[in-house]
Amino acid sequence: MSDGATDTRPSARFAWGVASDVGRVRRINQDRAVATGTVFAVADGMGGHRGGEVAAAIAAEILAVDRPLPAVDALLDLVRQANTEIVEQAGADPHLRGMGTTVCALAEIVDPVEGRHLGVANVGDSRLYLFTGGRLTQVTEDHSLVETLVRDGRLTREEAQHHPQRNILTRALGTDGKVLVDGWELAAVPGDRYLVCSDGLFNELGPDEMVELLGEDDPEVAARRLVEAACAAGGRDNVTAVVVDVLEAAAVGPTGVAATTAVDPDADDPVAARTLRTRRALPETVSFDDVAPRRLLVPPGLGTSPGDASADAAAGSPGEPGGPGGAGPDVGVDAAPGRPVGFLTWRVGLFVGAVLAVCGLAAAALVTYARDSWYVGVAGDEVVIYQGRPGGVLWFDPTVTEPVGLGVAELDDADRAEVTDGVVFDDLDAARTYAQLLVLRARDPGS
Ligand code: MG
Repeated sequence: MSDGATDTRPSARFAWGVASDVGRVRRINQDRAVATGTVFAVADGMGGHRGGEVAAAIAAEILAVDRPLPAVDALLDLVRQANTEIVEQAGADPHLRGMGTTVCALAEIVDPVEGRHLGVANVGDSRLYLFTGGRLTQVTEDHSLVETLVRDGRLTREEAQHHPQRNILTRALGTDGKVLVDGWELAAVPGDRYLVCSDGLFNELGPDEMVELLGEDDPEVAARRLVEAACAAGGRDNVTAVVVDVLEAAAVGPTGVAATTAVDPDADDPVAARTLRTRRALPETVSFDDVAPRRLLVPPGLGTSPGDASADAAAGSPGEPGGPGGAGPDVGVDAAPGRPVGFLTWRVGLFVGAVLAVCGLAAAALVTYARDSWYVGVAGDEVVIYQGRPGGVLWFDPTVTEPVGLGVAELDDADRAEVTDGVVFDDLDAARTYAQLLVLRARDPGS
């Protein structure tokens, strides 16, 4: 269960357990865990046949420090060092091009003045949770498209949990020579339990299940049960959990300074109560200031203007009756054609009315499915936003809503592959946000 883990014992200051599993779908485990006694981390690799595995292994190796760090900045430096190494190796080996990884790390900090506390570093969507007093609180913030949309109020937490694009990251190691790393310094409170995990865990388990499994006393057993439960719940991704207990004996640092005395055990927000300071990079901001002016771009074979398209969608009509056979369902029909009304008995009338109502509802649902979505795709050499669904639905072809102002050639391999398939959203604003993130990634390294 602990394949890929670096685990160097013992430590008098923490007790911990590590578990990792390939899951039920993937063939390779590209997650890596670190537990040295002073650094506890998870790296979730991505990209290429071997790339993700290599990127995560590089990060794990660099983070596997077995002594306390003098400051949280030293932890952030290790993450930046891992990023540089991944970028360099990817540049030197074509088979590793495009590899990347998340990193989420918890480390023991021994500051000569402030004593002992904890440092946290995060890039990507692996997570650190605090489990204390029976409550589970997420410490880190994901660097993902859905998190950006939630922060902007365009998605609810519940919608984000099931969003088809929830695996799209806005930050990862390996994408650029410069990486923004979020950092926190937390008071080390004896009795606190921390969980570092990959998305394969929290995407399969709800908070209630995680709380129940974290209630297990032994951190090794807790880590193993969490991973087993995520696999049993679907195991659609690699799953990794590192459970870390802060021990009683650790309350006082080498200078005799206790870093825990100021923490209110009953605080409403236990993470805020423990936060000494943060080193958070600026969150992703999505500005529409430099969006290309809306203009019509009609690639070959697509003839409907965006104005028509939006009017069709707003009216709930089929939109493109001129498609094959021109046979769009006629939602507005209120009597069977070709028969005098008096011919119908009330029973037949009721039956016909019911059939038409069902047909109307089905047609409306089809129109909604086909037209009430947008996707970021490719038209010629340009990235554009379409209304509709990739490939179209029956006679509803997608239509170009607006260009993004970005050439396909400017995208990296991973983004180009996604956009070529088409990345679908429920609303136009979400598609624009994603398009802007593509622009930022292509032209503003480090975003
Ligand atoms: Mg994963």
